[in-house]
Amino acid sequence: MIVMKFGGTSVEDAKAIERTAAIVKGRLSQKPVVVVSAMAKVTDQLLAMGRAAGSGDRKTALKLSRALRERHYNAAGELLGTALFTQFHSDLGIDFDALDELLRGIAAVGELTPRTTDHVAAFGELLSSKIINAAFSAQGMDSTLVDSRECIVTDNTHTRATPLFEESNKRLESKLAPLLAENRVPVMGGFIASTKAGITTTIGRGGSDFSAAIVGAALGAERIEIWTDVDGMMTTDPNVCPEARRIKVISFDEAAELAYFGAKVLHPATVLPAVQKNIPVYVLNSRNPSCEGTRISARAPRCRNVFKAIAAKKRITIVDVAAPRMLLAHGFLRAIFEAFDRHRVAVDVVATSEVSVSLTVDSNESIPALAADLAQLADVKYEGRKAIVCLVGENLRETPGIAARVFGELADVKIRMISQGASEINLTFVIDEDAVPEVVRRLHKTFFSELDPGVFA
Ligand code: ADP
Ligand code: ASP
Ligand code: MG
Repeated sequence: MIVMKFGGTSVEDAKAIERTAAIVKGRLSQKPVVVVSAMAKVTDQLLAMGRAAGSGDRKTALKLSRALRERHYNAAGELLGTALFTQFHSDLGIDFDALDELLRGIAAVGELTPRTTDHVAAFGELLSSKIINAAFSAQGMDSTLVDSRECIVTDNTHTRATPLFEESNKRLESKLAPLLAENRVPVMGGFIASTKAGITTTIGRGGSDFSAAIVGAALGAERIEIWTDVDGMMTTDPNVCPEARRIKVISFDEAAELAYFGAKVLHPATVLPAVQKNIPVYVLNSRNPSCEGTRISARAPRCRNVFKAIAAKKRITIVDVAAPRMLLAHGFLRAIFEAFDRHRVAVDVVATSEVSVSLTVDSNESIPALAADLAQLADVKYEGRKAIVCLVGENLRETPGIAARVFGELADVKIRMISQGASEINLTFVIDEDAVPEVVRRLHKTFFSELDPGVFA
């Protein structure tokens, strides 16, 4: 069997869903399980509705919900035709009424908890999977809607829950294997899951890729396909740098570094369950399905270029912690990291000197409280609007003079932090967010003007 995951843009409207249906039809002999995202931007809109309701603004929340209802009705109407849509309409209506009810409840209380956020966010994938399943059936495929909340089990860390693999694997196997044995096509929503007690959870933004990998690993898939809106993993974000080229094959380690540092084409955790089972992952373009895409393999292929790709991650804050008195004091770093841990803030890049530590974190609303906490240990400053730029490539290990070439090219750019060596395959630095497009384009020109044809398309 194979897993085919379709991202938001691949299911954004009726046309996109039709393309998706045609792609799945072409793979029926390989027994696909289809995992789908919410329609493009829907998760953002649901979260905006939740926030509006949480601030007591019921009117705005319900207005946003009406627009969402319209969009889903339109897509379903176009896909199903009048007769089928008439039946299906009331089914969708029940979901939208439930969403409105929930928003009214949140507005009445005036508080949006992480648990309720998950309830709201889950509607995106619940609705898209329902519509896509109905569209597949209308096109003559034997598809079956599977509620992911009944087969993927997580802890109760709402909005970024961690899967409980043993229980999930058991449930996925018992739910999906009989369907595949009957040559049915299971269609399930990504991103959503539930706790053992059946409370709805979500597994983090961009998490449908992760759902696909969980399903693939549980059933020992031959392959996991991540269908998106670009030709594969590219040498850099093609939306930032139009010269970006397709990477034909890349290692799991390289892909994970890239994903972690901002190449959102693939969710970082996707790679894990697939790596453990040695399942190849492909990134493919649903708008250009005949393109070979990118294969992510266990080992990196030989490549004449030093780097495979450049990623950039914006909305980063640098936190500087300076403590002259603590000079080399035993336990100081531990105390700092414990503070980050207490506030559940993850650190990306770290640089230390004798008297200070600089760390980068994703900009978020916990930072002021974290800084206040750290201020009890040392002097603290923080500064937002920064970005991490990361160059990734297995050949970095063996090639001398690389840092000189990178930073020589950026001699006029203010570099705030530098890190190399943690994984031996990435060179990472921090700059002002505004400088990202220019820096990425320049580095791309320097390192990707000549390409190894065995690795790049
Ligand atoms: P989906 O909705 O299918 O999950 P995403 O928006 O999450 O798609 O990811 C696809 C996007 O990732 C592309 O449109 C592109 O802008 C962005 N991206 C960033 N870095 C890269 C890269 N190195 N290669 C390809 N796409 C990239
Ligand atoms: N719909 C979710 C999100 O936008 C999950 C996903 O698309 O991967 O974050
Ligand atoms: Mg994505």
